[in-house]
Amino acid sequence: KANERESLYLVSEFASSYFQKILHKTDQGKSIGLSYFKERGFTEETIKRFDLGYSLDEWQAFTDEALKQGYNLDYLEKTGLTIVKDEKRFDRFKGRVMFPIKSMSGRVLGFGGRILINDKKAAKYLNSPESDIYHKSNVLYGIYDAKQSIAKEDNCYLVEGYTDVIQFVQTGVTNVVSSSGTALTSEQIRLINRLTKNITVLFDGDAAGMRASLRGIDLILEQGMNVKVCSFPEGEDPDSFARQNTLEELTEYLNENSKDFIQFKASILFEESKNDPIKKAETVRDIVNSISKIPDQIKKEIYIQECARIMDISEDVLFSTLAQITNKDA
Ligand code: ATP
Ligand code: MN
Ligand code: MN
Ligand code: MN
Repeated sequence: KANERESLYLVSEFASSYFQKILHKTDQGKSIGLSYFKERGFTEETIKRFDLGYSLDEWQAFTDEALKQGYNLDYLEKTGLTIVKDEKRFDRFKGRVMFPIKSMSGRVLGFGGRILINDKKAAKYLNSPESDIYHKSNVLYGIYDAKQSIAKEDNCYLVEGYTDVIQFVQTGVTNVVSSSGTALTSEQIRLINRLTKNITVLFDGDAAGMRASLRGIDLILEQGMNVKVCSFPEGEDPDSFARQNTLEELTEYLNENSKDFIQFKASILFEESKNDPIKKAETVRDIVNSISKIPDQIKKEIYIQECARIMDISEDVLFSTLAQITNKDA
């Protein structure tokens, strides 16, 4: 089994160098893939640093080359790079710019591939399927490149997408990883927890994304980590914002707009429910539920006091709600 996993790594690493070669050395790669990355503002150095690539818009160009180089069809299929159907073989990734996804130790586990033109019919990003080496819930995009910087800065920025990571790193903020569109999992948080106790979650500037992410944050509190959140102006995401700003401006924005998660949640819930007593009762339970996840008793108490102030409600009510929730969970 260990041998088979090693074979899957080797196939994936071959694919990564193949997609890079296509990007840099072929006419289609250069005129379509490379120019796409450059239009997005990625420099040559950045493109190389992230091992970005391109998959030809052909049915089986990659698979043919891999077989020719002696890679086993079975492993090509198990990594999902090749799809076998009725004895026919198809490349999974066709005409997409390619983002290799690496493990903490730098091995290639799988890929994200982006179509070049936004078109409502095709999925914008296509990812490798789950395999013996790629479990998307255990992986954070960018962790291999970011790990030293996360430890050194003693903070980790968590963003939504591949391009957010890349543009941040290019701008000079290197302690950044992405859950790549999937809901955050405890395994992903554990990867960060080994490096720092501090996470700053960055939201795309759209309300829907933020609401969805607020839920996942309780999982970070459960691991005893300190969580801040920061959102971007309407219509911007970390990628587009970083692209328009210098390192100094970006850093200043992050420092000024990062808010303690519990305080942030309490204030938006308060705003949403201040004129509606029934909704207010719900939101009180919601925020106290988040606080109940914090392992540290002293922190819990401090947050209860803060939330009482922010939500204009008595500490007693919050403490008794906390006791109720804690007893129910026990
Ligand atoms: P871009 O700037 O290239 O449009 P993005 O990262 O801003 O990409 P979002 O729509 O904000 O894209 O989505 C965030 C992340 O969610 C993506 O980077 C990708 O990992 C994942 N994602 C988005 N759309 C899809 C999809 N259709 N299928 C699978 N994953 C997706
Ligand atoms: Mn988004
Ligand atoms: Mn985005
Ligand atoms: Mn984007």
